[in-house]
Amino acid sequence: MSLGEFDLIERYFNRVHHAADQGPRRAVVPNGDDCAVIAPAAGMQLAVSTDTMVEGRHFLSTVDPARLGHKALAVNLSDLAACGAKPLAFTLALTLPRVDERFLAGFASGLLALADEHDCELVGGDTTAGPLAIGITVMGEVPPGQALLRSGAQPGDELWVSGWPGEARLALEAFRGTLKPPLSGEAFEAARLRMEQPSPRVALGLALRGLASSAIDVSDGLLGDLGHVLKRSRVGAAIALGALPVSPWLASRPVAEQQDNVLAGGDDYELLFTAPAARHAEVLAAGQAAGVPVHRIGLVQAEAGLRLLDGGWGAEGPVGWPTANRWTSFDHFRSA
Ligand code: ADP
Ligand code: MG
Repeated sequence: MSLGEFDLIERYFNRVHHAADQGPRRAVVPNGDDCAVIAPAAGMQLAVSTDTMVEGRHFLSTVDPARLGHKALAVNLSDLAACGAKPLAFTLALTLPRVDERFLAGFASGLLALADEHDCELVGGDTTAGPLAIGITVMGEVPPGQALLRSGAQPGDELWVSGWPGEARLALEAFRGTLKPPLSGEAFEAARLRMEQPSPRVALGLALRGLASSAIDVSDGLLGDLGHVLKRSRVGAAIALGALPVSPWLASRPVAEQQDNVLAGGDDYELLFTAPAARHAEVLAAGQAAGVPVHRIGLVQAEAGLRLLDGGWGAEGPVGWPTANRWTSFDHFRSA
C-alpha cells in the first residue's frame, strides 16, 4: 500500500521524528505544526529567497533523485551566497505525480545532506499531487546593512567571477547531442556533476561581506546576469575575453564554444561580483579562505553599456579589439 500525504511527510521530511537527528535547533516551533516559528539571532536581518524547479524545464526526468534534492536546495543557497547571508532555514513545497518511495528516499537524502552541510534547517513545507515540481524558500541572516546587493558597483571596481562558469551548459549540450566533436566520457561525467550537483558558494559570499561592492549569482548566463548589476548600479563595464576562466574540460572545446558556455551558459551558480581595485589582494584571500578560485575578468566603468575586448589585462584594465556581444541570457518566456 502506498504512503499517504502525512505518512510521507513524517517519514521523509519531518526531521523532529528522525531518531538520528538532534531535533529542532533553530525552529522554536518546528516542522509539523501550522507554522514554524524561528528565532534569528538578535539584531540580525533576515534574507529570504525562493526558487522553483519544474520537471522538463529545469531538470530531466532521468536525473538521479539524490542529485535533484541537492540541486533544488543548492540553487536557493546560491541566492543567499550572492547576498552574503548565512543559511538558517528553508521550507519545501513539493508537488509529486505519485508516491514513489525510491524517488523520495533519494531526493530526501540529497536534499538533507546539503542542508546539514550548510546547517540549514528544514522547518516546514507543503505536499500536493501534480506534475513534479519543487519549490524551496530559504532564509538566511545578515548583519544590518551588510547584505551584498546588485546596486553597489562603482566605476573603477574590478569585476570578478568565481569558479568555472560554463560547465553546466557543456553537459546540457552533451545531453542534447549538439556537441561536435562529442565530449569524452570523463569530461561528460565531470560536467554532468556540475550541472546536476552544483556547489553553492556560501563561504565565498560570507567572505565577501564588507569587501564586495555588488554581487549576483550566475544562473541565467554571465553576461545576462552582469547586465542586471550594471543596470541597478547605473554603470558600464569592460571585460577581457582573454581573462575569462576556462575549465580544463572546456579548454579542449572550440574557442567559440568555450566563449558561448562561459559567457551565456547559465545554471552555473558561481558568484559574479565587484570590489574596489585597491582591495584586489583581499579578494584573492577571500577566495582562498573559501576554497574557491576567483578570477578578475573586467573593470566597472562610468560609461553605460558593456564592452568586450579580445585581449587580456593591460596597465589600466582590459585591452584588445572590441568584439560584438552576440550573447543573450536565458528568459523563460522568450527562449524555446
Ligand atoms: P496545513 O494544511 O496546516 O498547511 P499541511 O497538512 O500542509 O499543513 O502540512 C502539515 C505539516 O507538515 C506542516 O507543518 C508542514 O510545514 C509540514 N510539511 C508539509 N509538507 C512538507 C514537506 N514537503 N517538507 C517539509 N515539511 C512539510
Ligand atoms: Mg499546507
